[in-house]
Amino acid sequence: MARKDGRAVDLNTQSLSSLPGVGPRVAEKLAARGLLTLQDLWLQLPRQYEDRTALTPIRALQPGVAAQVEGTVEAVERGFRYRPSLKVAIGDGSHATLVLRFFHFRAAQVAQFSPGARVRCYGTPRAGGHGLEIVHPSYRVIEHESALGEQLDPVYPAIEGIGPASLRRLIGLALDKLPDDEALELLPRAMRDSLRLPSLREALLTVHRPPRDADVAALLAGTHPAQRRLVLEELLAHHLSLRRQRIALQQHRAPALAGKGRLAERLRDALPFALTQAQHRVFEQIRHDLAQPHPMLRLVQGDVGSGKTVVAAMAAMLAVEAGKQAALMAPTELLAEQHLNNLRGWLEPLGVRVAWLAGKVTGKARAAVLAEVASGDAQMVVGTHALMQEGVAFNDLALAIVDEQHRFGVHQRLALRDKGAGGRVGVDAVVPHQLVMTATPIPRTLAMAAYADLDVSAIDELPPGRTPVQTVALSAERRPELIERIRGACAEGRQAYWVCTLIDDSDEVVAQAAQSTFEALSAALPELRVGLVHGRMKAIEKQATMRAFKDGTLDLLVATTVIEVGVDVANASLMIIENAERLGLAQLHQLRGRVGRGSAASSCVLLYQSPLSLLAKQRLETMRQTHDGFVIAEKDLELRGPGELLGTRQTGLATFRVADLARDAGLLPQVRELADQLLAESPDIADRIVQRWVGGAARYASA
Ligand code: ADP
Ligand code: MG
Repeated sequence: MARKDGRAVDLNTQSLSSLPGVGPRVAEKLAARGLLTLQDLWLQLPRQYEDRTALTPIRALQPGVAAQVEGTVEAVERGFRYRPSLKVAIGDGSHATLVLRFFHFRAAQVAQFSPGARVRCYGTPRAGGHGLEIVHPSYRVIEHESALGEQLDPVYPAIEGIGPASLRRLIGLALDKLPDDEALELLPRAMRDSLRLPSLREALLTVHRPPRDADVAALLAGTHPAQRRLVLEELLAHHLSLRRQRIALQQHRAPALAGKGRLAERLRDALPFALTQAQHRVFEQIRHDLAQPHPMLRLVQGDVGSGKTVVAAMAAMLAVEAGKQAALMAPTELLAEQHLNNLRGWLEPLGVRVAWLAGKVTGKARAAVLAEVASGDAQMVVGTHALMQEGVAFNDLALAIVDEQHRFGVHQRLALRDKGAGGRVGVDAVVPHQLVMTATPIPRTLAMAAYADLDVSAIDELPPGRTPVQTVALSAERRPELIERIRGACAEGRQAYWVCTLIDDSDEVVAQAAQSTFEALSAALPELRVGLVHGRMKAIEKQATMRAFKDGTLDLLVATTVIEVGVDVANASLMIIENAERLGLAQLHQLRGRVGRGSAASSCVLLYQSPLSLLAKQRLETMRQTHDGFVIAEKDLELRGPGELLGTRQTGLATFRVADLARDAGLLPQVRELADQLLAESPDIADRIVQRWVGGAARYASA
């Protein structure tokens, strides 16, 4: 959509069919890779460079180092023994010979290599039978004197159906249409000067067509100033887009919950334990937010078992005290039900009415709950996604709490907010405060990028008296020993989990593996009551089994990773995770969090298949060394990179075109400063930067 407030924005949308050579077929191939506009091609950056600006004497070639060579054909040999092959020996003034070797070739090619012909070629030499050889070099037969390249040649990520030469040509044509600095540049001059980074135009030209003296090592590492310039603008755009969502939300009003907090105090005093310092601090932060007439947008990060629920319950009491409602939404029925039981136990003695709304509440019961929710008789409502369904209308929702937020998308979070506003959110609407909780901490630097629209609190302390889970890594061959270990633990009245994972994580295959593990363990441990849960079972069956385990009528639970989130069985003290080397750190940490919730010494056995990759070794070692979710998250970032850490599903964070958070996270503080400045001084420019890089994704703002 073209916008009338600036040329730079219009350029964004110029279609690729304006380029010569882009017909419908090519356009379709490009579109399949998300390349629709000229700007998309400008931002399609090379992944490699080839230096054809100089010739290397054959004698000076080194194995493994790509180079350009020019020489005269001395001998040609065709072989057919095992497969067709063509060997062309060329020599140059350096009195050395290089062999060009081809396994696929056409007759016309053979004809080109007549002895005496001059050939210029580029490739990476390796040691061959007689000196160095290059397999399938890119080459050209030279008939007249021919100039060397002026710039390094870009190598672009391959696009199916478009040859590398055509792609390079298309991107070159698009670059020829780059507007001048004035039309293209959005960052104010003063800002650019203080950053000492090139203009956008200069940056793009440098990255696509680096001059021959460019710092190639920096370019390949992605740390060249030209690349940092592009990264900075992209990170800035994403950050601004989140900030604008936040600003838009904060235009709304919210009920100021500024009561004395007596109900929350009564809850706190009735608890069988004292709050940790961290719980106390985070509650005070929330309480301060809730007293404002604008919606709170706060994320509470806290490791498994850090006690987020009670903090949420105290926050809810601030709403109830004000005569309003609070809702708590959890991603699974089991988890929601666990919350329900906790909250009823805590709140009913205070005279607070807690209602339950999940998918399985149907018919008359559902109608009754809906009536209570609508009348306001239900002061606290606990449930699953069912809370967001049509027909659920609150009387006066003041606080929406979302647990394990990484399991929900941004949209679902907003949908619950909209419930509070009667489903329609105008600018002057009154919306509920939002509290989201997650046990999947993400590193501080990333939190800044992923949650720029939220304030972040951390419960970074576990309640006292927890014994850390002893973690060991064992090769899968030692599986039989574990049978005895389970027998021992269960004989002492404890419970155990056996978690099945597989390389192929299609539900069906994993379910089968879990099924056969279940059968094998049942046979090996006839005296134990063994249960099974996996993703292919009906929700009702899954819940029944989980409940039996929670109630202690099962000793051993064989499960897939469906048990990852939130279930609290304090008596479970042993967990065995099969193929642990296949799982990421965050997932291992979540799973391990299922044990060690009571006071008994617990252990976690990570079974692996040898041989371990270096990465897997490091992961298992990290698990053995620490229980701190924040440390594990930092390590995860280091080992995996943020792409996997922050799936779009998890955070609503878009994927980047040029930025790489593992590499570029250091720019984030600067990004935040620039954003502050732009939002204060030139919000129109902020808009245009978002439009250029994020474009349609800004629709979250009105979602
Ligand atoms: P999570 O942060 O993983 O959601 P929960 O809120 O489920 O953790 O709390 C885990 C367990 O710890 C619960 O049984 C809860 O009652 C208990 N708990 C919470 N806070 C404290 C505390 N300060 N001292 C002791 N136990 C606590
Ligand atoms: Mg929890």
